[in-house]
Amino acid sequence: MVESVQRAVGAVVGSAAGDALGAPFEFGAPGAYTDRFPDGRGTMCGGGGRDPGEATDDTQMAVLTAESLLERGGLDLPDVFRRFRRWAAAEPKDIGLQTEDVLGNGEPWDRTAVRHFQVNRRAAGNGSLMRATPAAVYFAAAGRAVSMDAARRLSALTHGDPAAGEGVALFHALLHAALQDDDPLDALPDALSRLHPAHRARYAAVLAPGWHPDQATEFNGAVWPCLGSAVWALRTTGSYEDALRAAIDLGGDTDTVAAVTGGLAGAVYGADAIPEPWVQKLHVPLPGFGGRVLRVDELRTLAEELVCTAVGPC
Ligand SMILES: [Mg+2]
Repeated sequence: MVESVQRAVGAVVGSAAGDALGAPFEFGAPGAYTDRFPDGRGTMCGGGGRDPGEATDDTQMAVLTAESLLERGGLDLPDVFRRFRRWAAAEPKDIGLQTEDVLGNGEPWDRTAVRHFQVNRRAAGNGSLMRATPAAVYFAAAGRAVSMDAARRLSALTHGDPAAGEGVALFHALLHAALQDDDPLDALPDALSRLHPAHRARYAAVLAPGWHPDQATEFNGAVWPCLGSAVWALRTTGSYEDALRAAIDLGGDTDTVAAVTGGLAGAVYGADAIPEPWVQKLHVPLPGFGGRVLRVDELRTLAEELVCTAVGPC
């Protein structure tokens, strides 16, 4: 059995590693990862203006969320928003269009995402799901309902569409199960039953055992196929490394699909399942925060603090 701290570290480092591994393949063709690494043993290869192992906005926003939770001793939404806005103002290499607008338009923290949704109507991108792993780790000990509520509130900082929040809530529920040594796939029916009824059927469709990402009705930059693809990658493979290969080979928004997959698979298989050469190259620049660059030891410490603060002394 993998101990819970190793699952938490696996989730946080596993998501970051998926982000960095998938980033060079973003918007590429399906199968590009296996074409490049025919033996299935991928490396942190960099490209597209990023160094090998360099994480993108997914992990940067995840780290900002983690540090807020730890420094504020819980959910302080204005504080999380302030950190996001400071980061966005520093012009990071990657930032989603919607996130950029919501964080940059000067509106108050509790109005800007709602207003964006009212104007644009379509706001169910995967940009709040991609950053969810640390909060899912932190709130797991508080129980599934509390964790899913926190997920919705954190999502709503940038994504006014409740569909995005329901997807993040599902992700929190799956990670809650994995961190408790349960199979997250077994937790799906209960998690779906806790969604707002208006959103349940659409998530049930993409999370069904027979669903394949080819059946997606949107690009995987949308929250439904992104979460569905991550769960499909977990369900149809038997290791952390293979889950990421399956996720990245789907093409499209590969860094985020791999970040979400990596969070789940890292929790299921534990930190030791993440290939050491990937871990050694992994690094997370934090634009807007004095040139800080987190390496894996700092990510491990963050994960340990997230899980230990929430459950008491480890
Ligand atoms: Mg990204």
